[in-house]
Amino acid sequence: MVQIRQNLLSKSLYSWKSPYEMKPTRIVIHNTANDASADAEIKYMKKSEKQGGRQTSFHYAVDDKEAVQGLPENRNGWHAGDGNGKGNREGIAIEICYSKSGGERFMKAEQNAADLVVDILKRYGWSISKVTKHKDYADKYCPHRTLDLGWQRFLNMVQSRLDKETAKPVETVKKTVDELADEVLKGLWGNGADRRKRLEAAGYSYTEVQARVNQKLYGPKPKKKSVDELAREVIRGEWGNGEERKKRLRAAGYSYTAVQKRVNELI
Ligand SMILES: [Zn+2]
Repeated sequence: MVQIRQNLLSKSLYSWKSPYEMKPTRIVIHNTANDASADAEIKYMKKSEKQGGRQTSFHYAVDDKEAVQGLPENRNGWHAGDGNGKGNREGIAIEICYSKSGGERFMKAEQNAADLVVDILKRYGWSISKVTKHKDYADKYCPHRTLDLGWQRFLNMVQSRLDKETAKPVETVKKTVDELADEVLKGLWGNGADRRKRLEAAGYSYTEVQARVNQKLYGPKPKKKSVDELAREVIRGEWGNGEERKKRLRAAGYSYTAVQKRVNELI
């Protein structure tokens, strides 16, 4: 992520360079068409008329080292050439530096701008459709070098960063050893070395699963009680009465009818 540093416009110049409060709805991308650093761009943007400044204003300048913010995002700038249109009145303006000569530092500046764009999109909960360019608002070929190199290419840079940021590790629901043992017995995990490899690749302990498989295959079966034993338990009151008795016996896998018949014989 590119470093963002603030060097904000003096409020005394708001009436000239940033007269309106703004609820931003988009980002507007520019190229500076010169070879000044972001620091120099913002310092120049902050100049008053007396100091030789111009009315032009924008929110960020980005170079190969940093992003410098000159306007708060909730105030308008004059950069899009559309008067009181949506570019000027609703756009967060980003100037990408070193576009006149291009080269390595411009390429890096574009990448840093893509980082900044992602930061803004995330903060406002916007999709990439909010990334617009100066040319969308006025008859001006800006951002000239970014357009020469390919606008879609720049959007792709943003999108791939967005994808990386939002990619969450896949949450795998872990199966219990018992479930896995049943799957092994159904043949879902192969045999021998293959079974071991596949279980371990999926993050499970082969030894543990195999132990349970063996237990299921060869271990003692849970002992079922005989009808006679159950009938005696029923008489001792261990299975409740009426509907409850019926429900509990059936839930435990026994035949209520058979047990009740024996109970009736015994009492
Ligand atoms: Zn522009």
